[in-house]
Amino acid sequence: MATVTSSIAVERAKESRISEVDFKNLEFGNHLADHMLVVDYEDGQWQNPRVVPFADILVSPAILSLHYGQSVFEGMKAFRTRSGDVNIFRPQKHLARLNRSLDRMVMPAIPEDIFLAGLQALMEVDHNWIPDPDDGTLYIRPLVFATEARLGVKVSSTYKLIIMTSPVGPYQSKPYRLKVENHFVRTAEGGTGFAKCAGNYGGAFYPTQIARQEGFDQILWTDHKEHKYIDEVGMMNVMFVIGGKLITPKLTSAILEGVTRDSILTLARDMGIYPVEERRINIDEVKEAFTKGTLTEAFGTGTAAVVAPIAVIHIDGVDYQIPAAGPTSFQLQVKEKLNNMRLGLEPDRYGWNYIVKV
Ligand SMILES: *Cc1c(COP(=O)(O)O)cnc(C)c1O
Repeated sequence: MATVTSSIAVERAKESRISEVDFKNLEFGNHLADHMLVVDYEDGQWQNPRVVPFADILVSPAILSLHYGQSVFEGMKAFRTRSGDVNIFRPQKHLARLNRSLDRMVMPAIPEDIFLAGLQALMEVDHNWIPDPDDGTLYIRPLVFATEARLGVKVSSTYKLIIMTSPVGPYQSKPYRLKVENHFVRTAEGGTGFAKCAGNYGGAFYPTQIARQEGFDQILWTDHKEHKYIDEVGMMNVMFVIGGKLITPKLTSAILEGVTRDSILTLARDMGIYPVEERRINIDEVKEAFTKGTLTEAFGTGTAAVVAPIAVIHIDGVDYQIPAAGPTSFQLQVKEKLNNMRLGLEPDRYGWNYIVKV
């Protein structure tokens, strides 16, 4: 039966799959909720937004995204607050980045009204898939890809936006052992590093696989020219506490502008524990800080984990051990503050919570 919610047609799944999910033991991304939002770009505009049962889609093997890579995604989260509300964290900020990614790939921007109404409609049908606060969150994955079917190398004239969701557990990453990459690059300045486009991830698999075979968990990416300045860690932004300052690489076209990065820097400036510096970080500075004992924390930041502690950085054949994050460490304090804000336990001073009535 089709009903209309906020001008979005909704076709409900005949049967929910939610009873198949063990909400106490969620793994990242292995369950997809009952519905998805689908929007088509045709005749020069985004149209026909609809919520339909999550299912396989039929596409031509000739669609341009598969051949030439016009494919872009986002990753954000919906929370169940302590008072039971549905809260999507900073969706407008994620949409702004999605539109920057789309622009870089010559793909059409998504209008904010369609994006937000689509999320609203999706939450109305699938809010029961949002885990309880202690069990996890609902990961939201918007995907935009070229659908025109032809072999010529060209910019597609048609696209699809699909938003799917997946309940995920509280992500606890074991402290990372990092390899400083001094041969491969994830991207280069002037390239597509600041965009969340599919090719960036496909291209990172090979160097990451080599690092894993060498006994590391992730790569600490450095600049493409000299392999001297730090960009990111794996698929996360990176921060250090050195000499009582919170330091993170300043944004370039080779760095993905994380929403978590922005949230943490904003909170850090507010909490006033450490002054914040956004600037280039030379790997020699990190090495020297180890030697002097002034490097007290290093961690990755991203939507999936919020913060991911770094245990070891391997530089020029030497393992540098970083002190373990204790309860008074900045990374755990800021993580708790951010989580409390999203669960409605602390005032939402920056208007980051987008409460959806369901
Ligand atoms: C998604 C992503 C991040 C983190 O962004 P968040 O908005 O904080 O989740 C950082 N680096 C890369 C390469 C990413 O793809």
